[in-house]
Amino acid sequence: MYIAVDDTDSREGMCTTYLLSEIIIRSGMDIIGYPHLVRLNPAIKHKTRGNGALCAKLGHGRGVPLKIGSFNGMDIMSYPEEEDAPQATDLINLAGEVVEEMAVLDEHDTNPGIVFSTSEFDSSFYWKAVREEVSIHEAEAFVTEQGGEYRKFKNGRGIIGAAAAIAWPAKQVTYEFLAYRFPNGLPVAPDLKLGVARLADQIPGSFNNIDNRNNHAAIFPRERTPVVLGIRGTQPESLLDKAPEIVAETGLGVERYLLFRTNQATDDHIIPDPEKLRDGCSYSIEGTVKGQPYSITGGHYFATLQKGHMELAIAAFEPTKEFRTAFSKMASGDDIRVYGTYKDKCLNVEKMEVKALSDVYIKIPPTCKECGDRMHSRGRNDYRCYRCGSKESLASYELKPREILTGKFDVPVLSRRHLSRPFELDMCDVVGAPAEVYA
Ligand code: ATP
Repeated sequence: MYIAVDDTDSREGMCTTYLLSEIIIRSGMDIIGYPHLVRLNPAIKHKTRGNGALCAKLGHGRGVPLKIGSFNGMDIMSYPEEEDAPQATDLINLAGEVVEEMAVLDEHDTNPGIVFSTSEFDSSFYWKAVREEVSIHEAEAFVTEQGGEYRKFKNGRGIIGAAAAIAWPAKQVTYEFLAYRFPNGLPVAPDLKLGVARLADQIPGSFNNIDNRNNHAAIFPRERTPVVLGIRGTQPESLLDKAPEIVAETGLGVERYLLFRTNQATDDHIIPDPEKLRDGCSYSIEGTVKGQPYSITGGHYFATLQKGHMELAIAAFEPTKEFRTAFSKMASGDDIRVYGTYKDKCLNVEKMEVKALSDVYIKIPPTCKECGDRMHSRGRNDYRCYRCGSKESLASYELKPREILTGKFDVPVLSRRHLSRPFELDMCDVVGAPAEVYA
């Protein structure tokens, strides 16, 4: 039986991943496969933080179990197959009770939703929810049509994410090891955070742990939440082998941990080469830089990208830090591919590939035809030789050395989005097939 939940937390506390772990533990059932943490359209205005929805398949397991978590010293096991499905009403009631008890229901924009199903959902709903905007009504109709059930709390917007989490086909996957302490993690000194993030970074296949240049330990949450830390990786065995040791040895007060399978770092939100752009969707577009990038107060950089007849404003905002240096070094005529979310008539670039550099020339005074000395500019189209007194009206041009090379440029770890696949993660490192064609 699939059970999915979303929209239970606020910036002041709780995390839907923790709430799902609570449902799993209280149910006493086996997890079939991994629980899923599914990130959806990052531009949705109702999101609290990372627009994550959760799903787990619970039942009576069959086959050789694998330890994927721990709760107060007890093992949380995952089974490869389901022997038989549990009593649906018991699980539905239990999930409802946990949401009533733990969700931040008095927060205005917290509108939990739970979705149940005995079978998988069609993946079309996932693709829509990760790339576009979906209404609560659409989610209700979809769940009913797929033979599932839902429960709404307040306006129940959470059923959108919950339905999408069941519909996630998990074709391209990464993993996240999440460790918790309820209701909040202990305060951790900045140096200890960096030390733990460095240890996490040594786990084979792990990524986005630490931003050394900006001194930022990205595995720690920025707000109040039961999440103590989250370590991302492409190799579940390595995470399960090494991450529990790290939390045990660094005295972070972790009470439970669980490994999730996720769509993080898959670029699933990106619509490649669109015909038209819509606000709130994310795209990858190849084109030619037109004109010179420029900056405005606040350290935000802008440029224009030309693709056929379309001219598109692209931006590297201040939070993208040193990425702005590469962005600012582009020049008119460079061929690039940019990735990012389109908002307010501008594509907010989250990574880019510089494919070909144009030749940039600078105007210099000509050399004197009489004596060979470098001439001097005396005004517009007026060059004089100070040695022999010759005059010339035409300037010379010289190739300017470019301050950027062709290549792939990620924003720093500090400002990376959950869904954005860092170039540094080689494609074969993201487990599974490439994203299926979006209908
Ligand atoms: P956290 O990451 O801390 O769990 P969050 O950022 O996931 O929080 P939520 O509190 O879950 O934020 O709020 C996101 C809301 O947006 C949910 O109600 C979810 O159902 C809804 N939602 C998700 N994707 C879409 C979409 N594509 N269209 C419309 N609504 C969406």
